[in-house]
Amino acid sequence: RAKSRAGSWAAYSPSLDAPRLTRLKLVGELRGAIGAGDLEVHYQPVVDLRTGRPCSVEALVRWRHPVRGRVGPEQFIGLAEQSRLIGPLTLWVIDEAVRQSLAWREAGLPRIPVAVNWSIHCLRDPGAADAIHRRLVAHRDLLTVEVTESALADDDARDALQVLAAEGVSCAIDDFGTGYASLAHLRRLPVDRLKVDKLFVEHLAEERKDRAIVRSVVDLAHALGLEVTAEGVESEAVAAELRLLGVGAAQGHLWSPAVEGEEITGAWAGGTAA
Ligand code: C2E
Ligand code: CA
Ligand code: CA
Ligand code: CA
Repeated sequence: RAKSRAGSWAAYSPSLDAPRLTRLKLVGELRGAIGAGDLEVHYQPVVDLRTGRPCSVEALVRWRHPVRGRVGPEQFIGLAEQSRLIGPLTLWVIDEAVRQSLAWREAGLPRIPVAVNWSIHCLRDPGAADAIHRRLVAHRDLLTVEVTESALADDDARDALQVLAAEGVSCAIDDFGTGYASLAHLRRLPVDRLKVDKLFVEHLAEERKDRAIVRSVVDLAHALGLEVTAEGVESEAVAAELRLLGVGAAQGHLWSPAVEGEEITGAWAGGTAA
């Protein structure tokens, strides 16, 4: 069976400034895809840097387009956000993640926390936003939420996050360092984890400035009682640097790209990520 490797998702680029008609067509196709099972969720293991063992996964959506082939999320999440499809899409991802979790349990794996990406645009569709909220709370022992730092500039997003946290849902700030979140927000937000964007991670072994940035994020996180995950780790040198800096968890192609649910079974059983 052909394995889907992260690189194969980048090939097609129906850019968001494509002609209006093309975009309308894509929106229609995406709407259909959500219902037709043409989306799939892949899971990227997150590794505990102290033990080297996988400890959770991140759910990352892909679109298996009947004509265009595999389309990566960078190509259609923006479209989904602008067309209000992001609510139904997120609901679908959550349901799929819960279904997959049950399958992992049946395969004898321990409980694997699944992080789901949550977009502020979900709030524009109150019905979907409410359903997403209820799902997350119902499965708070299983699901965690990742919200980009830039979303935290928005009052409604912060309110939604506060309510989720108050109901016991664990939240991480995604792409930390790229979105200008004010430290005042960070102080008041009920988040548990900062995710350092791969922008600051990929050249960590050779860039002193990146090291200084990651070091300060770790210091800040630890002072606030938060955990840190680094994304985009592609080399052993970067992993070693992250360990020295006190980063607790990481994900990246060094261990595994996002893979189909069934492939996760082997990663956990074998003791290392994929
Ligand atoms: P993100 O949340 O920052 O996810 C991390 C991205 O980095 C993923 O790209 C992942 O495949 C990629 N990545 C992980 N490790 C490495 C590595 O070592 N090297 C490289 N080059 N890349 C690595 P992906 O899957 O293409 O997703 C891109 C973005 O699309 C995500 O960025 C997220 O913002 C968004 N996205 C994906 N799935 C969903 C979803 O279900 N809902 C929402 N709202 N957004 C999603
Ligand atoms: Ca994420
Ligand atoms: Ca992102
Ligand atoms: Ca990122």
